[in-house]
Amino acid sequence: MSQTIAATAATERAPLTFTVTPSTHARSAAEREAILADPGFGKNFTDHMVTIDWTLDEGWHDARVTAYGPLMLDPASSVLHYAQEIFEGLKAYRHADGSIWTFRPEKNAERMQRSARRLALPELPARDFIESIKQIVAVDGDWVPSAPETSLYLRPFMIANETFLGVRAAHKVGYYVIASPAGAYFHGGVAPVKIWLAADYSRAGRGGTGAAKCGGNYAASLLPQMEANENGCAQVLFLDGETGTRIDELGGMNVFFVHGTDTLVTPRLTGSILEGVTRDSIMQLARDRGMTVEEREVTLDEWRDGVASGAITEVFACGTAAVVTPIAQLKGKDLEIGDADAPAGEITMAIRQELTDIQYGRRPDRHGWLTRLDAPESRA
Ligand SMILES: *Cc1c(COP(=O)(O)O)cnc(C)c1O
Repeated sequence: MSQTIAATAATERAPLTFTVTPSTHARSAAEREAILADPGFGKNFTDHMVTIDWTLDEGWHDARVTAYGPLMLDPASSVLHYAQEIFEGLKAYRHADGSIWTFRPEKNAERMQRSARRLALPELPARDFIESIKQIVAVDGDWVPSAPETSLYLRPFMIANETFLGVRAAHKVGYYVIASPAGAYFHGGVAPVKIWLAADYSRAGRGGTGAAKCGGNYAASLLPQMEANENGCAQVLFLDGETGTRIDELGGMNVFFVHGTDTLVTPRLTGSILEGVTRDSIMQLARDRGMTVEEREVTLDEWRDGVASGAITEVFACGTAAVVTPIAQLKGKDLEIGDADAPAGEITMAIRQELTDIQYGRRPDRHGWLTRLDAPESRA
């Protein structure tokens, strides 16, 4: 009860103001350029980070930008024991004129609020979420690379950091944003992947946390992901936990089926599927092209029969990190659907091109999806 009151009060108060304490050990321009020449994914981090504290009594407070560095956590911090944690993932893109933009950040802000509700964490107001992104880009904008298909990956996350081993929603929480330069996901062109059917494992169940972006879902996906890798597959596909017949999604990406040349089908949101921003954007772009978009139940049988009959012409996965990944084949114990050597589908690649063109400012942003991050007025 008292937690609800605090959360309500938090949404009604004035926007947070951020204090900025520049790092005293920021990398030199030469060191940064060396990293940006081949950043990989998720292994290099910028010079600063954002922190915002929350307590039950005070709500959100003490928003700050400081040097990037380790967190001090008491070993009894609740997140370390009960996994009360959520995260987001979005990117900052450099356009040809040098300006820096991000894609539909309000969607990530709203999703983080939904994830927070499910994990009994406090909701960060959307304007504070978006401001936290602007703040890190304001200090670390030079870390946004400019080579094709590169970006600065932004990782907001929230953890329960109360020192308490009792099992209940924490009364002390931290929100952070870190940033990591990301190279092109596919080197030498977009390559179709094989994916593995996790027959013995589920990532989510009815009433579970499948629709929340929380670390626990990923922990549950790692063992089947290892099985996928052992079988030569890049990613793991999960069926619904109840019947084991319906397609849910991959470990960290949503999935789409092209039927013929004019219909796009994706599993409807059932509560066990994560609602991707990329998924939503692709449905819009497909409708704009005059395609019919269906969000509905898709069974494994439909996939097998559809590929066999030729009704299903292309399959792809999508998410912020890789944008769109063509799926050549689904493999499992005693199962192979599709041709492992199939080239990327035409519609898959056209949608991928259109989406990245919008993100990188090469095509008009007709849906108002871009938010500028480096405009002077955003530097509070
Ligand atoms: C983040 C995520 C996605 C993709 O979401 P985007 O907003 O498109 O990046 C899909 N599935 C899972 C399980 C995820 O965690």
